[in-house]
Amino acid sequence: MSEPDVIVVGSGAGGASVAHRLVKAGRRVLLLEKGGELPRDGSTLDVKTVFQSGRFKNQEPWLDGAKKEFVPGEFYNVGGKTKWYGAALLRFAPHEFEAEPTYQALAWPFGHDELAPYYDEVEDLLHVNRFENEPELQTLIDKVVAHDASWRPEPLPLGLKREILNDPNEAKHFDGFASACGYKSDAEWNLIDLIRGDSSFTLLMEKTVVGLTHALDAPAQITGVRCADGSSYTAPVVVLAAGAMSSPRILQDHLQATGLEASFPSASLVGANFRFHLNTAILGLSPFHRHDVLRKTAIFFNEHFPHSTIQCLGWMDGDLVGAQLPAAVPKFVSNAIGSRAVGFFATTEDGSSVANRIVSGGVDGRPMLDYDLDRIAPSRDEHHALIHAFERALLRAGLLGVDRYAGLAGTAHAVGSLVTGNDPQSSVVDASGKVYGMTNLYVGDGSVLPRTSRVNPSLTIYAWGLRLGDHLARPQQ
Ligand SMILES: Cc1cc2nc3c(=O)[nH]c(=O)nc-3n(C[C@H](O)[C@H](O)[C@H](O)COP(=O)(O)OP(=O)(O)OC[C@H]3O[C@@H](n4cnc5c(N)ncnc54)[C@H](O)[C@@H]3O)c2cc1C
Repeated sequence: MSEPDVIVVGSGAGGASVAHRLVKAGRRVLLLEKGGELPRDGSTLDVKTVFQSGRFKNQEPWLDGAKKEFVPGEFYNVGGKTKWYGAALLRFAPHEFEAEPTYQALAWPFGHDELAPYYDEVEDLLHVNRFENEPELQTLIDKVVAHDASWRPEPLPLGLKREILNDPNEAKHFDGFASACGYKSDAEWNLIDLIRGDSSFTLLMEKTVVGLTHALDAPAQITGVRCADGSSYTAPVVVLAAGAMSSPRILQDHLQATGLEASFPSASLVGANFRFHLNTAILGLSPFHRHDVLRKTAIFFNEHFPHSTIQCLGWMDGDLVGAQLPAAVPKFVSNAIGSRAVGFFATTEDGSSVANRIVSGGVDGRPMLDYDLDRIAPSRDEHHALIHAFERALLRAGLLGVDRYAGLAGTAHAVGSLVTGNDPQSSVVDASGKVYGMTNLYVGDGSVLPRTSRVNPSLTIYAWGLRLGDHLARPQQ
């Protein structure tokens, strides 16, 4: 390909959406992806390979705010984290586009109506479906609601094809696994595969972007990217879509290397306002064996916890439970627990703090995630209250609840770090997706989200990516 019109860095929800939209509009796109393609041989459905050996997961340690090592749950492969997600694809509510200062929640630069057509479109592209609850789950939901009607269950919108019900191995392993047959919609199967054969699209894998190139004596005028293998590529437009843990580090390194830091309007906000939800897994232990297969078909809202939801998790068994327990726990114990457990995922929106941030370690240093729940006390307090209330509800329905907070390594829902807004004093990216103070540089991933909302983020990231693609496909002035 001759020089592309646009370079997109990263092929997850955001990057794939931008690339898809631009290629369909006839633009030449070069998509650079740090990882490779996942195998479609079934190994991505294997509990031991995925959870115990961690073959497909990031192994690079980061530092937390106290300089202690941890390994974030990131995935570097074509399709990004969408290959591994649970495909719960929900829209943010209209009020979640507004600021809520008492909850430390920032405003979007536009309202829900602006994203609505892109939500419609991406729901079609991803075949979003709702499934009936299986019998045991329905009985449990009925009991929870009978004791306390403030728990309001709704069907969970899922990016799953109905055919998955005919393939028990896929149906039991979609939440946290990568589909080998395309039953689960993701950024690769549903967006990249649709443009792969197009002559205006090039995907280069194993390409880690480590820097931005710029015009002579004009570091704010971006001309392309540099990769870890020494290669470099130029284009009139560069879109960062490496995810909320990586995109801000590429920009930070550029500001530092070029001395732009001093004059850049939102330098101190690059990496700031990082969020990733407060997420806690809750196991409901029943005296009886559980037989439902799909399980992840419902979500609870509750007016007493307006920034939170409780979502059902997918299939559970001894192998899956055993993968989370210390190796010394005998197999018959994990089997006994796994066959009687029902999984839930308690999610609370995290408010914003500029101190909760991603910090690049530079070329040789380790990256840092400095994030402290005490900086967002209203979110912390709602999450604790939510878990206690739901475990009480489970107990009344005959299940003993045990919980585990995801902690810093649970970066599945990482967003923020390059937030969009109307004011360069409080945001990094304008409403169109362009980085304030830079020419030719845009952000297409979850980094831009000013609010996390009470539901999973990827449908909104896909929608943002399509909207940015639309913007870039129009002739620029
Ligand atoms: C186990 C799990 C379950 C989840 N479940 C759900 C769910 O049910 N519903 C939901 O909405 N969300 C879910 N999520 C979250 C969802 O997957 C993410 O919100 C979404 O993928 C983020 O999109 P993104 O484009 O911002 O980043 P990513 O999808 O992370 O994409 C970033 C891409 O950039 C690449 N990259 C990184 N650095 C570089 C670099 N330097 N150079 C080039 N490329 C680079 C990465 O390899 C990756 O492909 C889940 C995530 C996980 C891990």
